[in-house]
Amino acid sequence: MPVTLYNTMERKLEEFIPIEDRQVRLYCCGPTVYNYAHVGNLRTYVFEDILRRTLEYYGYSVRHVMNVTDVGHLVGDGDDGEDKMEKTSKETGKSVYEIADFYADAFFADTADLNILTPTVACRATEHIDDMIALVKRLEERGHTYTAGGNVYFSIDTFPAYGRLARLDLEELRSGARIEVDSNKRNPKDFVLWFTRSKFGNQSMTWDSPWGVGYPGWHLECSAMSMRYLGEQFDIHCGGTDHIPVHHTNEIAQSEAATGKSPWVKYWMHAEFLLDESGKMSKSKGEFLTLSLLKKKGYDPMDFRYFCLGGHYRSQLQFSYRSLDAARTARLNMSSRVQELLAAGAEPVEVVALSDRAVELRADFIEQIGHDLNMPRALSTLWAILKDTVLSPSEKITLLYDIDKVLGLRIDKIPSLTDEELDEECASLIREREEARRAKNYSRADELRDILKTLGIEIKDTPSGTKWKKIL
Ligand code: AMP
Ligand code: ZN
Repeated sequence: MPVTLYNTMERKLEEFIPIEDRQVRLYCCGPTVYNYAHVGNLRTYVFEDILRRTLEYYGYSVRHVMNVTDVGHLVGDGDDGEDKMEKTSKETGKSVYEIADFYADAFFADTADLNILTPTVACRATEHIDDMIALVKRLEERGHTYTAGGNVYFSIDTFPAYGRLARLDLEELRSGARIEVDSNKRNPKDFVLWFTRSKFGNQSMTWDSPWGVGYPGWHLECSAMSMRYLGEQFDIHCGGTDHIPVHHTNEIAQSEAATGKSPWVKYWMHAEFLLDESGKMSKSKGEFLTLSLLKKKGYDPMDFRYFCLGGHYRSQLQFSYRSLDAARTARLNMSSRVQELLAAGAEPVEVVALSDRAVELRADFIEQIGHDLNMPRALSTLWAILKDTVLSPSEKITLLYDIDKVLGLRIDKIPSLTDEELDEECASLIREREEARRAKNYSRADELRDILKTLGIEIKDTPSGTKWKKIL
């Protein structure tokens, strides 16, 4: 069965065929580490994780590269405003490197909490300045750059395909352009590749370059690092929808202009925004929505993951504590049903040994995830499995553990009910019965089983030990 994905470049669903047989090369724009990630950012990383897990489930090997932006991302996407890192540095009195380390660690702690798989390569912009300089040199050699006011610019008029991803109407943009803040630009949509004369006097992170001491533009970073680790053409590039009109548009222009190869990326995938109650999600307000804040309020990171899975990645999702509570309730409900299965002695079996009904449910799941990552439908299948009246507990557990390779809800970590939840009398009877069984005193073991039954506890002996469930 093929995987179908929505390609933003073509604005349609397409069958996914990687460039190189079973190997997928995937690049995801990573965080700018000047502050904590907000839960909107995290929604996008959950989507990318689901994409990777789906492809792996379908048997592809995925090389997943993500950058960490620790220089060059200005407050505005269009080369305006300060460098975000420098801004935090000034506000806190800490060095930009200290800030980058702190927030990069916080980001990876969040993603680990959300059971997001670690990228194959996570690369820092400040460690790839040479690659970026080499890319600007290539662009310069091919006539795509000009220098003005101390900065090196990409000239979009040298790249006729500019703006296709975002369907930009360049003529309209040019005629309707507001007065451009940067008068050095020949075209208002030109963008900086290399800042040699910082607009902000005391920029602390600078490197030597053929054009003078300076620092790279944000868009350049992603082109240079993705091509460094994935080659000059690769399969999938992801980010949030806000990246379509500027960041990804500029990445395409400079990458294809530098290599002369098109398409640079075969499939572009974008996650829609998570909105807060104000209608957007921002870090500028004092307290913004972070995973730590949700944890402080008593939520489990898996509640947030479950909440994200409840919406399709191409639809906007509205965050509210009510919706998060609903996700938590559903997840806890799922956990207690899983505990019942375990208490009934469910043990995973080989997928090949599944009944027709189980195979059918698994096929539904595979189809749904392969159809542009339809997680809301995949969650319905999870519930269909839990509520099925034909499947055995072991088949249910087998299916749940299997589909969780994609859902990532840590279903296999749901503990079986432990003795602590039993009253002392029953717990000691179960221990006594285990000893009797070990001593091969089966008549005593049976007697104890009957006593427990009268106390409302049913016992089942499984290869991994005694399981029990409440029956009254
Ligand atoms: P940033 O750290 O700002 O570069 O953003 C990291 C990722 O989060 C990017 O892929 C953005 O497109 C994405 N993003 C930003 N805001 C939101 C939001 N409210 N909802 C979903 N994704 C977002
Ligand atoms: Zn990027």
